[in-house]
Amino acid sequence: MHVVAHTEQPLQAHALIRAAASQPALLPLAQQLTDQCWGLLPGVHRLRFALRGDVPQNTHPASPPLTRDRLSLTLCVGPHADWPEFAEVLRAHTTGACETPVELAALQARIVTIIGAGVAGAGTARALAERGWQVTVLDAGQAPAAGASGLPVGVVAPHTSHDDSGVSRLSRAGLRLMEQTMRELLIEGVDWGCTGVRERRLPGKTRRAGVPLSWLNEHAHTANDWTHKAPPPAPDDAFWHPRGAWLKPAPLVRALLAHPNIHWQGNAKVEALRFIPHEAHLSHASTNTARWQVLQGSTVLAESSRVVLAAGPGSAALIATATEDGSAPRINPLRGQISWGLMADLPSGAHMPATPVNGHGSFVHKLASPEGPAWYTGATYDRIHGDARLLDSDHAENLERLKALEPDTAAALAPLFATVGSDAPRVHGWAGVRCGVHDRLPMMGRVPHAPEGLYMNTAMGSRGLTLALLCGELLAAQWHGEPLPVEGRLAQFLSATRFRSNA
Ligand SMILES: Cc1cc2nc3c(=O)[nH]c(=O)nc-3n(C[C@H](O)[C@H](O)[C@H](O)COP(=O)(O)OP(=O)(O)OC[C@H]3O[C@@H](n4cnc5c(N)ncnc54)[C@H](O)[C@@H]3O)c2cc1C
Repeated sequence: MHVVAHTEQPLQAHALIRAAASQPALLPLAQQLTDQCWGLLPGVHRLRFALRGDVPQNTHPASPPLTRDRLSLTLCVGPHADWPEFAEVLRAHTTGACETPVELAALQARIVTIIGAGVAGAGTARALAERGWQVTVLDAGQAPAAGASGLPVGVVAPHTSHDDSGVSRLSRAGLRLMEQTMRELLIEGVDWGCTGVRERRLPGKTRRAGVPLSWLNEHAHTANDWTHKAPPPAPDDAFWHPRGAWLKPAPLVRALLAHPNIHWQGNAKVEALRFIPHEAHLSHASTNTARWQVLQGSTVLAESSRVVLAAGPGSAALIATATEDGSAPRINPLRGQISWGLMADLPSGAHMPATPVNGHGSFVHKLASPEGPAWYTGATYDRIHGDARLLDSDHAENLERLKALEPDTAAALAPLFATVGSDAPRVHGWAGVRCGVHDRLPMMGRVPHAPEGLYMNTAMGSRGLTLALLCGELLAAQWHGEPLPVEGRLAQFLSATRFRSNA
């Protein structure tokens, strides 16, 4: 169920919630919303919450009944003129004139196959399952999160820039959705931690420091919810993201897949896709719709009118089997390795930062691992090897990064790194292969040059934990003609068709 609302000023959003609270039936909803009404800078925001207790019903005859499910509120903050596309959606929703897109209505059954059970595939599966789709998720691995999403721990944090670029704005929408999802599905302190993240902007190592000028003036109050200068004794180049978090992505993937409408199948390496066009001359309606067959050799693993490719670095090869001219977007593999060890091996009195830090690699510590509380640092960027091999040289690289990021911590860990390559190493590694395109933004939406019904959600690069769920939600919203979770122009940055030539 989706609701669209508009408010001129960020702070008026709170007034909106207070107004709702004046009606007793809406009080639980208002309370949940109040919790989520932070960081509402001008823009479009998607707030989601569970409906509990007595569900207030909209008396409009065209409105579908509210179920004890989830409600999404799309909040457009800022002058009305900024959101022409939402003015239309708002009108349609308030008059009950919103229609399911014709293309979707033409589908006989809402059955979809998703290839890849990483955070992108699982997030897309969940977004569609919650909208009533029957979803089959296929993965080559034995268990979910067999690829880059098997990362032991990663950092979720917003991107900031002087010009508040597209990626900065998308990262905020992505983080908001990720935080809501983690709160709903995971155990805080075990699978994720809303600790805040300190980011250092090191000269020559990371992008130039800065937040938009408007954040220092008219939007300071709201913007501080996202990012502000870290107070002393943090170094002068440090920023603080109060909503930053650490996350173990594999439990998230498993939790996303745990939905009655999702069927997950492992050990299912897809080799090709075959399009079966609509055959108008056939009389049986059930057999004459256009559809895709998902193939392993000559075996049909799944058949559905829609397929979403979320196979990370394996996506491009599959796309090439499906496009009319054998073309595929240039999605580059990018291997990475993190280094980790046990807290018990640290010298006593070792300097450890109070919270996770990032900026030039990252450092997170005191997280539970099967072997005991552990620390993690990395990661490397390797364009040479396309597989998840472990390399001793990457450990040395991770230590070098940490020396710049947290010199005292690096000094404390250096003796452990010296054991790499010995019979009893006290630094271990985990490697995975991310993938991305040249503008470093995900590729989401209809696959270019392919017949109808083939979609993709991949190329998450180094920001999958922040952006992948947003991309899945966006895809589902587009299929259903719902208000998008971000402005149309931001959604365009993610579109799989944004490059003129994808060959
Ligand atoms: C070392 C390292 C550190 C990172 N740190 C961070 C971080 O701190 N913050 C952050 O946001 N991001 C981080 N990332 C990036 C993040 O992990 C990825 O962006 C994200 O996990 C990508 O998710 P995905 O679902 O797109 O791909 P994957 O998780 O790779 O999922 C793709 C799935 O597709 C399956 N597959 C592939 N080919 C086929 C096929 N032919 N048939 C069937 N299945 C197939 C694979 O088995 C895999 O399970 C890091 C990545 C690495 C490697």
